[in-house]
Parts: sequence; C-alpha cells; structure tokens
Amino acid sequence: MVSFPDLAALGEAVHDCRRCALGSSRTHAVPGVGPQNARIVIVGEAPGQMEDQQGEPFVGAAGKLLDQLLRGIGLSRAEVFITNVLKCRPPGNRDPLPEEAQACAPYLDQQLALIKPEVVLILGRHALARLLPGHDSISRVHGRVLFKNATAYIPIYHPAAALYNSFLMQTLEQDFQAVRTYLDRAARQPAPVPAASAAGGTDPDHQLSLFG
Ligand code: URA
Repeated sequence: MVSFPDLAALGEAVHDCRRCALGSSRTHAVPGVGPQNARIVIVGEAPGQMEDQQGEPFVGAAGKLLDQLLRGIGLSRAEVFITNVLKCRPPGNRDPLPEEAQACAPYLDQQLALIKPEVVLILGRHALARLLPGHDSISRVHGRVLFKNATAYIPIYHPAAALYNSFLMQTLEQDFQAVRTYLDRAARQPAPVPAASAAGGTDPDHQLSLFG
C-alpha cells in the first residue's frame, strides 16, 4: 500500500477501497473525522447502520454517549480524531473478521502515523486486539495508560456496551476521568518514554495506572 501525504488523500483511498468484501456491501466508507493535529485519536470497532448511511463515525446512540463523555472531561468532538478499526460496516453489525481487520490495518496505522497523537483512546475489545495485541481483556486493562512507542494508549469499554449494561456507565465515566488526568499531567510534564522505546526496541509496552 502506498503511504498518503495527508488525511484527505487517505480518506479518498478509503472511499475507493476494495481490499475486502465489505467494499461491495457498504453504502459509504467511513474513514474518520477530525483535525490532523488532534491530541487524541479515538478508535472504535466499525461503522454501524447510521454511520454507513452518513459516512461519519459515531453518529448513532453510541456516538451521542461518546459526545457526552467527551464533554464531561471538557473536550469536544471537533478537537479529537474519531475513527474505527474497520472503515466499512460489517453486514448486520457482526463482529469484524480477522481478515477484514488485517485488510484495513494500513489505514489506521497511517492515520496514527500522520496525526501522531499524544493519546489513543481504545474503545472496546476489537480495537484493543488490533492496537495492543496480547492485552486481550478490556475488563483487565480499562482505564489504564499503556505506552507503545512513546504514545499513550488508554483502553476503555465501548460506549455501546454501557448502553446495553447500564452498570458500566459509572466505570466509563471514571475511565474518561483517567483520560483527563493523563492529559493534564502530560501538559505539565512530558510523557515517560520507556528505555526500550527510546532505543528503538520492539516491545516498549509498559503501564502506568492512574487509579491504584
Ligand atoms: N460503533 C463503533 O465502533 N463505531 C462507530 O462508528 C459507531 C458505532
């Protein structure tokens, strides 16, 4: 795959993409929205029905909750970049297939390379598996700050999960507070860079817990 000069060029390629079968079942591809200089990139699972119709991520019920959670920590949708592991809707909103996630991987990788965010918010287990393979359980790592190549990754439950399980709402709000705490701390002092990462090692993953 070629590399893209900017997010707009990448978005055009996504709209023309036929790298997997979802290219022929989608209504609209959904590359993502937000500024290229965003401090935060939010990565969900895949477009749902409304996103497929409108070509924009998180515009349905889960998106409304995401907007509310962002507002709760003083952020607006306009200042973050929002995207998904898959850029096209799986029929019936089924789980992404491994081959679909693999076919779509270069787009997300290049979005992260172009934006170079301080924080990547991982929404749910599919984004966790894609971005931090080996951390297979969102219930074990949610709300923690995990460093990879000097970028902070914060896994949280997918907002859709809290729509179905209201007991998760408080956890989700606390995890968003962890994001606020991290951003405030990072603004005061540079993020700790793991030695392996600074030396160009391949497994620079380490954890920083904000809540015990
Ligand atoms: N759920 C997701 O994971 N992504 C969207 O864009 C919408 C709902």
